[in-house]
Amino acid sequence: MHPYRGRTASLATRHGKLVAIAPAFRAPIGLEVVSVDVDTDSLGTFVGDRPRHGSQRETAVAKARLGMAESGLSLGIATEATFGPLAGNPFVNACLELVVLVDDDLGLVLAEHEVDYSVPSVSVTLRDAQVESIPLIAAGFPEHGLIVRPEEGYQPVFKLHDYDELRAAVRACAEASPSATVVVENDFRAHHSPGRLQVIEHAAQKLAQRAAALCRECGAPGWGVVARNPGAPCSECGTETRIAKSEVLGCAKCEASVERRLPESEGVDPRHCPSCNP
Ligand SMILES: [Zn+2]
Ligand SMILES: [Zn+2]
Repeated sequence: MHPYRGRTASLATRHGKLVAIAPAFRAPIGLEVVSVDVDTDSLGTFVGDRPRHGSQRETAVAKARLGMAESGLSLGIATEATFGPLAGNPFVNACLELVVLVDDDLGLVLAEHEVDYSVPSVSVTLRDAQVESIPLIAAGFPEHGLIVRPEEGYQPVFKLHDYDELRAAVRACAEASPSATVVVENDFRAHHSPGRLQVIEHAAQKLAQRAAALCRECGAPGWGVVARNPGAPCSECGTETRIAKSEVLGCAKCEASVERRLPESEGVDPRHCPSCNP
């Protein structure tokens, strides 16, 4: 019997994420998720008019706690995304979606993330209201929303899904900008970005999987990978590579953990080798 079966968790959101998250937790562990309308914008927005102060994880946990406080529930879920280049792949924008589950009864936080490179994340600067130079196909418009604002400051801001509104917004922002410069970017709020909503769904499924696994020592939910140890040997020359040779599975509550050897510990392709392929 899973400790979350039949219980309810709050989901702090204003942006319609419930459809992507609730089914992920219902099937595997029987946890009901209810949407709680709290103003998460106070913790930072994508437009940049309200910057995020903490780390991505801190912000997600703070959001979850807003929903828990508002609903009076001791279980809370929240998501937080970042968009931009990642260390391993600096030339393409990635969407990194973090989902957390805060459990104040057991005193633990479970987290999972999903990385995706296909969520439309266009950002262009228009010099003279050249609406034609907006890459609408890459932006996934009009299914994916756009945000239009003058380059200086954040007023006025238009959030839209319509061609005529887009033209009018670019004109209005060009007039409001001292340099007649307008910034057009994808709207990443979940209900305006179907691509991001899919990433949220995948991240929520991973988190539900993690929550489903119970610690054999203390019974707490969230048994799963907590660390990976690099150093798998090159199959040609035996030099250690950055590929993981083992992973550590651990509990989110107690100290229990086990190390598990990965198949890569038997040897990996020389293209990963710092000696064979420097
Ligand atoms: Zn444990
Ligand atoms: Zn080698």
